[in-house]
Amino acid sequence: MLKHTASFLQQLGDRILSHHMVINQLYTNGWLMDESVLDAFESRGIKPEFIISYDGTGGWHDWMRGRPGAEEATLRAMRLCARRGFYVSASMCVHRGNLSTLPQTVETLRAVGVEELSVANVDETDLWRAHSEGNAMTLPEYMEAMLPYVDWYYKAGRPIDILKLCNIAYLQRDQLARPWFTSFDGTEKCLDCYLCSAVRWTAYITPEGRLLPCMPMTASPDQSRFPKVQDIGLQKGLSDSYYMQFVNSRVKDLLAVNQECAACEHRYKCGGGCRASALCGPDHSLLGCDRHMCTFWKNGCEDRIMEALRRADETYGNVLEPAAK
Ligand code: SF4
Ligand code: SF4
Repeated sequence: MLKHTASFLQQLGDRILSHHMVINQLYTNGWLMDESVLDAFESRGIKPEFIISYDGTGGWHDWMRGRPGAEEATLRAMRLCARRGFYVSASMCVHRGNLSTLPQTVETLRAVGVEELSVANVDETDLWRAHSEGNAMTLPEYMEAMLPYVDWYYKAGRPIDILKLCNIAYLQRDQLARPWFTSFDGTEKCLDCYLCSAVRWTAYITPEGRLLPCMPMTASPDQSRFPKVQDIGLQKGLSDSYYMQFVNSRVKDLLAVNQECAACEHRYKCGGGCRASALCGPDHSLLGCDRHMCTFWKNGCEDRIMEALRRADETYGNVLEPAAK
């Protein structure tokens, strides 16, 4: 199996490179990672970043993946990639059960050479609600649970290079912290901004060949509105397709069809939020409201986050830029 993996990656990688595309990131669960896979990349002169999920110590990773041994395989892959000089970042889906493992999780990741961790609440999909065994958290619960980790990060001496607390703050060892929430500048200038700048520079192709703006959209059956590459070809898909119409959409296009966002006092900061969240959330609409952001902006979360960062700045120093204090 491993031999086939390396050979498949070589074929796939060569095809991608032959079209002058770049491979700078690779998402993997690490199961099939071995030296030969890394050799295949290195022999082509490419050194992508590996992004590997790790959902916490104490058995939570295996529980989340539904597979005994998943944690061992993941940590082995991380250690191998880091030892070979590949940059590895970890992402952790946090929930009521694994929340308290965050300090230990950071320690475990550092021990295998990982210096970047991104933490996010598990998306509130129907599937997760059905199988969470009581561990699902709402966004307000997630915010309450994660805010103390701002203080923890600095109190613990910034124990990892980068700790991204999604929807809260981006904490860094050698640089100032950045609050997560500022999508737009709060003025009408946002109307001409793209709905999502991230989907302007990456595309996601599903295993069945569907061309999607990003991976989280796979959680919605409405992804079927996007074209399949094998039906229309990548060139047309990336120039003249429903996919491109979406990728080219501006905030003003959303406000033209979404009356709730158009009337919202936070629209010039929020811009309607994340499209994947709107599609996979209760609205089930690509141009609907991102209910996470509604919760965020309408409950003063911006102030709570800034308060936590300012407190950390006063206590530990060198956390916020002077203008934000
Ligand atoms: S998840 Fe949301 S913010 Fe991220 S790329 Fe997709 S639409 Fe954009
Ligand atoms: S807070 Fe909600 S209603 Fe307001 S702009 Fe954002 S998504 Fe739309």
